Amino acid sequence: MMKYELRLQANFRGVLDRIAAACLRSGRSPADVRLVAVTKSGNMPAVQSLVELGARDLGESRPQQLAERAALIQGPVRWHLIGHLQRNKVRLVLPFVECIHSIDSTRLLARVDEVAGELDLQPRVLVEVNVSGEESKGGFSPDEVVSQWPRICAFRNVQIDGLMTMAPLVDDVEKTRPVFRSLRELRDRLASRLQDAPQLRELSMGMSEDFEIAVEEGATMVRVGSLLFEGIG
Ligand SMILES: *Cc1c(COP(=O)(O)O)cnc(C)c1O
Repeated sequence: MMKYELRLQANFRGVLDRIAAACLRSGRSPADVRLVAVTKSGNMPAVQSLVELGARDLGESRPQQLAERAALIQGPVRWHLIGHLQRNKVRLVLPFVECIHSIDSTRLLARVDEVAGELDLQPRVLVEVNVSGEESKGGFSPDEVVSQWPRICAFRNVQIDGLMTMAPLVDDVEKTRPVFRSLRELRDRLASRLQDAPQLRELSMGMSEDFEIAVEEGATMVRVGSLLFEGIG
């Protein structure tokens, strides 16, 4: 192995170990938490190496970059779109994605549903919630999710699999805990609200700085990028 591959391997194992330890602390099974390796800060050889080390879920925040990389990376990987999706990029990205984490409006969801119907796809999607209410962040407010929930659930070509959030940047990482907890409580509330409501199995929350707290609070997918590619090229 090249030197950068050894470093990548150590980073990857380090993150998996820390997920497992957070699971142990909170009485969860590591099998219930997926690492989505966010590849936007890695170059192509590093991303390909990560797949060879065993990464199976890869995340990109830009639709264009996701589509390009999905066509080039070899291996049994599932691609996750985690960043803002414009409605005019839906058709570009939909054939490549396993899951769109960043559904931030009903208008976008309607477009995804429409294109999915045309392409005969049933994409999995997550509804992005701006729990902390920061202006700079996209997503539904918690109140909007609750009030629009029946409409959100009415689309037929998409599978609403859960919720996603980003915690604010804070000086003390413990301050992210209430944000993650709120997302979990919102999920529990929505899942019991409608008859034949979607199950909302997934909670996509936690990044390099705060993924352990997110796991302790119930994350089923953590989106980690910079920690994986630290020290590489
Ligand atoms: C970049 C990004 C991440 C990963 O962040 P890191 O701090 O590099 O781990 C996670 N989620 C979203 C939405 C992102 O844009």
